[in-house]
Amino acid sequence: MTSPVASASSYPVAPALVEYPHPALRRPTEPVTVFDDALREFCQRMFAVMEAEAGVGLAAPQVAVSKRLFITDHKKRKGAEESERRVWINPRLENQQGTSVYEEGCLSFPGIYAKVTRLNTFDIVYQDEYGVERRQSLDVSAGDFLGIVVQHELDHLEGRVFIDHLTPLQVEMVRKKLQDLEKTYKKATGSAGAVIRR
Ligand SMILES: [Zn+2]
Repeated sequence: MTSPVASASSYPVAPALVEYPHPALRRPTEPVTVFDDALREFCQRMFAVMEAEAGVGLAAPQVAVSKRLFITDHKKRKGAEESERRVWINPRLENQQGTSVYEEGCLSFPGIYAKVTRLNTFDIVYQDEYGVERRQSLDVSAGDFLGIVVQHELDHLEGRVFIDHLTPLQVEMVRKKLQDLEKTYKKATGSAGAVIRR
């Protein structure tokens, strides 16, 4: 049976978080080309998944959808009550400068935290859920925690995860937790998944 609107995009009705070593975390993503209600509904479902896990960012590959989009829900200022939900589609970085180190975690790597070196200052150019192009300048050392979040999520769109940035010594420190996740995945699926070589 054909769809009444042939060009409508198709997204899972009940997206679910995937954890390391699920292979979706390593798949390259496709640009979003159709900005329709199906896309916007999917984004709302992603917010529900992220809120259930108390996350600040979630990328489509983390719900096994290989599309270039992620969402964030960040506090506007440190300690602020109010937060701001945002959808970032087909994002790219410009005017990158300097580095900044920040301790990161990831909903797809529960219980693992490590310091990662990121860019300090950059512009992110992206489209919102209606396809409107937007640009935001971020400066991590000036207090833009969002600058760390968007770099972490952008990595997911390239099939990269924060563990890829760690030194061998840092990986050694989280080895046991990675192995536990690998065992859990193998028990649930019967396959090894996309295991990080170390
Ligand atoms: Zn992540």
